[in-house]
Amino acid sequence: MRIQILGTAAAEGWPAEFCACDTCIRARAAGGHNRRSRSSIQIDDIYKIDLPPDTFHHVISYDIDLSNLAHLFITHSHFDHLSVGELVFTRPPFAHNLRRPPIKIYGNETVTSAIISRFPEGSHPFEVTTLEPFVPVTADDLVFIPITAHHDPHQHCLNYVIESGPKRVLYASDTGEYEQSTIDFLRKLKFDLLISECTQGTLPMPAHSHMSFEAVLRLRDIIAPSRTVITHFSHNIGLLHDELEAIANPHEVEVAYDGIVLEC
Ligand SMILES: [Zn+2]
Ligand SMILES: [Zn+2]
Ligand SMILES: [Zn+2]
Repeated sequence: MRIQILGTAAAEGWPAEFCACDTCIRARAAGGHNRRSRSSIQIDDIYKIDLPPDTFHHVISYDIDLSNLAHLFITHSHFDHLSVGELVFTRPPFAHNLRRPPIKIYGNETVTSAIISRFPEGSHPFEVTTLEPFVPVTADDLVFIPITAHHDPHQHCLNYVIESGPKRVLYASDTGEYEQSTIDFLRKLKFDLLISECTQGTLPMPAHSHMSFEAVLRLRDIIAPSRTVITHFSHNIGLLHDELEAIANPHEVEVAYDGIVLEC
């Protein structure tokens, strides 16, 4: 699998759109890896997780051709992960000659009803499937296993285990620390790569709906992946990319930046 992390910020982006906090001022001045857009990953040419409001920016920045998209997995309905209006552009006059129609879109019940209420079935070249946690979906060459995240009590947020032959990846965003049933499921599997959100960084507050760096280390200890990468950062953590690396790298945790490519 070729995985590209397209965006590595929490909902407000980084520097945050309307923010003049010290961190955003420093991030604007420093540029480079300190410019973070809303979170999504691209896998090979035909798979994508989440559809953030920065999707067009991702397409033009990383030369992605979404006419190839065959499978779109959504984690949850928060607008930084599902910018539902973007889906209007899948059909003429906005899009012609999709290569893999209908695009298959998968998500929890909140996600699929949000899409269907906006775009009645059959009106656009996509097909919507509601997922059951822990029930695997075969999508061309990959298997996606939706797992229960711990993020928003008002919907059944999902994270994804992605399998390509013997290779296995966990994309853990958005979530706080997993409940025991999810841990029990993950413990039985062997992971090559963990990509985990770390919205709270080193803030000394307890992780409720998002992960802190300490919580990422606890998850890493449980699932023992060969490689761990953190993403989905909030400007409130107060650390620029290099400063985050100085904390994470000694623990053998890598800090994602927008556009980073991971081979697995
Ligand atoms: Zn988010
Ligand atoms: Zn800020
Ligand atoms: Zn969220």
